[in-house]
Amino acid sequence: MFCPLCKAEYRQGFSTCSDCHIPLVSTQEEAAAVEVDRLWTGDNRKKFEGILDALLDAGIPFRSRETLKSQPWPWISIFLFRFMKPRPTFEYRIDVFHKDRDRADDAIPKSKSEDDFGDEDD
Ligand SMILES: [Zn+2]
Repeated sequence: MFCPLCKAEYRQGFSTCSDCHIPLVSTQEEAAAVEVDRLWTGDNRKKFEGILDALLDAGIPFRSRETLKSQPWPWISIFLFRFMKPRPTFEYRIDVFHKDRDRADDAIPKSKSEDDFGDEDD
């Protein structure tokens, strides 16, 4: 069994992807044939969460990922973490089915500028 969204493979007996909460298909070819679009990528956590909420509300299946951005110089990072305690930088990604792309674009919060989601202290 394969997930058509994240393309993960599941053992027989599974019928739903535990990450994407959508029905699995039976062959890898079927899963691979389903087009998936990158809906959004960025490092604004508030915006990321806002989009996920909107997709949930609209009932649109999605796949989200957050990855820690790689540090160019790990030994400097250790120094910085110890003395300056910078916040780690994450990169967020949201993928949706190609067929849901237009609906997803309509569902996600529209903002006049990238800054509308704001900083925590505004
Ligand atoms: Zn999946």
